[in-house]
Amino acid sequence: MTDKLYEYVICEKCGAECPKNATKCIKCKNPLSKDYYRGLWLKNAIITLALFLLPCFILFYIINFEISTHFESQVMKQLQYSIDVNGRTIGAFFEERRADLLSISKLDIEGIRDIMTKRILLQRFAREKPWFDFIAVADPDGTILFSTNHIQANVENEPYFENALKGSFENSGIFYSAILDTNAMVLASPLLNRHDRIVGVILASICLRTFYARILDLRIGETSEVFLVDEQGIFLSPSRLGGQVLKEKGHFHKDTNPHTGNGGVIVHRDYRGEKVICAYKRFEELSGYLVSEIDMDEALAPVTILKRIMFIIFLLFACFVVASSFLFSRRVTNVVKKLTSTLKTALDDISHKKDTINNINRELRKRLSDCETLSHKILVSEEYIKNIINSISSGFIAIDHNLSITYCNSYVQAYAATKDVVIHTNLYEAFPLLKQNDVQQHVKAIFSMKQPFRLRRVPVTKGKNELILSIAGFPMQDRDIVAGAILVLNNVTEQELLHAQMADYEKLSALSQLALGAAHEINNPLQGITSYIELLLEEEHDVEKKRQTKEVLDNAYRISETVRGLLSFARPTPPKFTKISINKLITESLSFLQHQPLFRKIVADKTLSENVPQITADANQIRQVFLNIFINAAQAMPQGGSLQVMTTKVKFQEIVEITIRDTGVGISPEFIKKVFDPFFTTKKGEGTGLGLSISYSYIKNHDGTITITSEVNKGTEVTIHLPIRQVRSSNQEVLE
Ligand code: ADP
Ligand code: MG
Repeated sequence: MTDKLYEYVICEKCGAECPKNATKCIKCKNPLSKDYYRGLWLKNAIITLALFLLPCFILFYIINFEISTHFESQVMKQLQYSIDVNGRTIGAFFEERRADLLSISKLDIEGIRDIMTKRILLQRFAREKPWFDFIAVADPDGTILFSTNHIQANVENEPYFENALKGSFENSGIFYSAILDTNAMVLASPLLNRHDRIVGVILASICLRTFYARILDLRIGETSEVFLVDEQGIFLSPSRLGGQVLKEKGHFHKDTNPHTGNGGVIVHRDYRGEKVICAYKRFEELSGYLVSEIDMDEALAPVTILKRIMFIIFLLFACFVVASSFLFSRRVTNVVKKLTSTLKTALDDISHKKDTINNINRELRKRLSDCETLSHKILVSEEYIKNIINSISSGFIAIDHNLSITYCNSYVQAYAATKDVVIHTNLYEAFPLLKQNDVQQHVKAIFSMKQPFRLRRVPVTKGKNELILSIAGFPMQDRDIVAGAILVLNNVTEQELLHAQMADYEKLSALSQLALGAAHEINNPLQGITSYIELLLEEEHDVEKKRQTKEVLDNAYRISETVRGLLSFARPTPPKFTKISINKLITESLSFLQHQPLFRKIVADKTLSENVPQITADANQIRQVFLNIFINAAQAMPQGGSLQVMTTKVKFQEIVEITIRDTGVGISPEFIKKVFDPFFTTKKGEGTGLGLSISYSYIKNHDGTITITSEVNKGTEVTIHLPIRQVRSSNQEVLE
């Protein structure tokens, strides 16, 4: 498992898994640190070690310290104890010796010279007391009168002698005796006679071996020893380890004397330079100190052993901790590694899923947007269809099988009972004018037999108006069921009227054909007549007859002209563009009409500009336009009036302007926009309503314009603009 984890390296920067032998991250291109987990592992190990070892080390140190202190204090107590015991022993020793000496210090003698009488007693005493080397008696001058070891000397200057002579019991302490030429300790007691007077001094030399043996018996170890030192630290008793009495100091020679005061326990370096634990106590009898010392090393040897054992245990424990922490850390690192890898896989998985979700989201959003677009399109197309239905100039009603209205366009509003048609109201309630047997039966038939119907002329009454409606109905099928019906209403009132007018027009047209025939019939003999009269006129020499003949000829010409005008008006001829003079055409047209009864009360006035050039136009069509306009003007002035005709060339333009003005009844504003509509006429029965519409189309044929302005009861003005030249396509004949 561990090996598997090391098959790849995870980049520390971006977390990408890289091949084990890669030097750079395959993703972020940063250098790869393969030691990352090793570092982590070491770090973990060190932290674990610190966590485990540091408290152990502190514990170890505290235990060590405690043990040392405890042991030291134990040793000190022991040393103190040995001092106490030794002190008591030595004290008791001296007490006994004092008692010994005092027991013989009162001898039954008269004077010092009698001492010799007691010689046997003294010798026996000395023999019985092995701790005395010898007993001596000195006279007040210090001269030794008697000694068990036969010393002859004078101790006059010895302090113990002087003091003893004064009556006190003296201990000389250990000193070098010149008399004995060795170390000695002398006890001195005043010698009393039988009258208790001091007659001399009795001296007892303590056997130092015995004395020392007493002390040394209390030893407590290899390096421990009990000895006596004076106030300067000079040995008063021999040291087992080499210290020599009265020759050496008990402490290290370079150090100051550690023994001060009445006693204590200290650590110092002894005369050998070794560190020792030392307990000491002042000993008055010897004017020095009883010292008990032991080498530090020895005293603390058990502690050292204990420490060593503990150290070994600690070391073993530390090794164990180190090993286990390394193992633990490695395991933890491996777990972390595995977790990282698992996490990475999971993250990759999540990222993959996120991508998928994002894709789905995108797709959903797209679909939603498509739906929105579609719904918008549906709305738009619904609106569009509604607009179409509303713009149809037919009434459109959708009903369900209950005859409730489900939809209707605005056009049907005109036929509704109320101002606004409410959806879901009954068809016949909303549109009472449809409540006719005929209509009802047909509507019923749509639902029962799926049968559509069309009623072309249904007279209805809407308010005061009589209308003619055309009503059609269709079934609205949903699969095989008739879900509803559509009714389409059309107002055909005007159409019907138009039909009537058309009938009139047909009649007029027929009349016009008759007139045309008649005109031909008149024209042909007329041509013969005029030719004959012209011949007569040429041959006639009589002035009066010639004048009369001329008058006849003029009238014949006029008849011919009238007939020709009639023919050109009635005969539809194809447009033929030639150069014509507008002025001339106007003059001809007016003169043709002036003889008509309609123009009898009309005063015609021409203002024809000479600047007007010839234009390219169809003379017949333009003539017909003028005739139409002049006739309209005359019809507008039944009681007579003035007709003004003006021509001019528009400045800076290749256009000729013709203005025809009358002082007739005028045209009301509501009609003026309809005057060019075919069949629009206000002259009931008399007019065809075609004059202006034909004129309009003729002027348009010439790329010109025709406009009408009018004021009721004042007159009308027609203005025509005609281009001087025609730009025609090739298939049309243009004659310049
Ligand atoms: P019609 O003369 O047969 O009625 P037109 O097309 O010539 O048909 O004229 C249409 C209508 O225009 C006339 O019915 C008339 O009401 C009106 N109109 C035309 N010219 C004049 C005019 N000069 N004065 C008054 N009304 C006119
Ligand atoms: Mg007319």
